[in-house]
Amino acid sequence: MLVIVALAGAMLGRISHAHGFCRTMTGREANDPPGTNRCAGWNEREQRACCPHGKPLYWKNACIGYSLQKDASRQVSLSDAERVFARAFETWTKTTCSTDAASRVSIQVSYLGPVECGTVGYNSDGPNQNVIVFRDGSWDHMDATNTLGLTTVRYDPSTGEMFDADMEINAYQRRPLSIADSLPSGAVDLPSIATHEAGHVLGFAHSSAEDATMFAAYRAMTMRDLSSDDTSGICGVYKPDQNRVTAAGPLLADACDPTPRHGYTSACVSGGSSGGGGCSVPGDDSSQTPPPLALGLSALSLVLLRRLRTCD
Ligand SMILES: [Zn+2]
Repeated sequence: MLVIVALAGAMLGRISHAHGFCRTMTGREANDPPGTNRCAGWNEREQRACCPHGKPLYWKNACIGYSLQKDASRQVSLSDAERVFARAFETWTKTTCSTDAASRVSIQVSYLGPVECGTVGYNSDGPNQNVIVFRDGSWDHMDATNTLGLTTVRYDPSTGEMFDADMEINAYQRRPLSIADSLPSGAVDLPSIATHEAGHVLGFAHSSAEDATMFAAYRAMTMRDLSSDDTSGICGVYKPDQNRVTAAGPLLADACDPTPRHGYTSACVSGGSSGGGGCSVPGDDSSQTPPPLALGLSALSLVLLRRLRTCD
């Protein structure tokens, strides 16, 4: 069974949190037919509150494993990309939730190495990879000029448990990608994009906090590091006591196993529900146009966007 969902989020069950992090939600209420996503396009409709519909997403296991497509990009070598994404995930997972060093969040993300497969997809009855792939030659999603990255997530619509996450980086848009600590004029900061998309992989939607890494509109450099709002998010979901906060209440993490669901493979597996079409239900893109307040931040504001799909 599967459902599609697109976009947005909600925060821990309340929308009264006017400025703050949001969790990605399934977007489907109990009596909604399969495929319903009340959160689709939420960012365009409502910038100041999280989508309240459905259940928040989470990873049950204490560990997630990801891979990079082995060709990386004409602009960014595999070894550079490996460094950038390792740091991006670590920026989230190294977070401590108090001054106590033992208060580290209870989610770890491990690099499983380069893979052949660069296809966004999820195989519901065979091995998978959570892949990060650069798109050098084309961008097949909406708004190729203004979209910098897209993360597609699969999850169980009945619980919100995440099964798979694939990330695409737009290396086709006109601005060059940079990994330098001093950003060249006109370039886009890949580490900022990576850290933002890593937040989507972990189950977060866009935040209304303008200084947050999870704010929808791109900001060079400062998205590399978490704001207090992002820290509140990761600490609020993947608690140091090993519990995740789910719609059903606290849930103890499974012991660390970064193997993708149903096993790991470097190859694209045909059949099942893998492939660009994913889960046999068309994906639903939603773009986040920069909210008015973001327009003043930078004339170069670029939109970060992601897409969600679900299968179980
Ligand atoms: Zn985003």
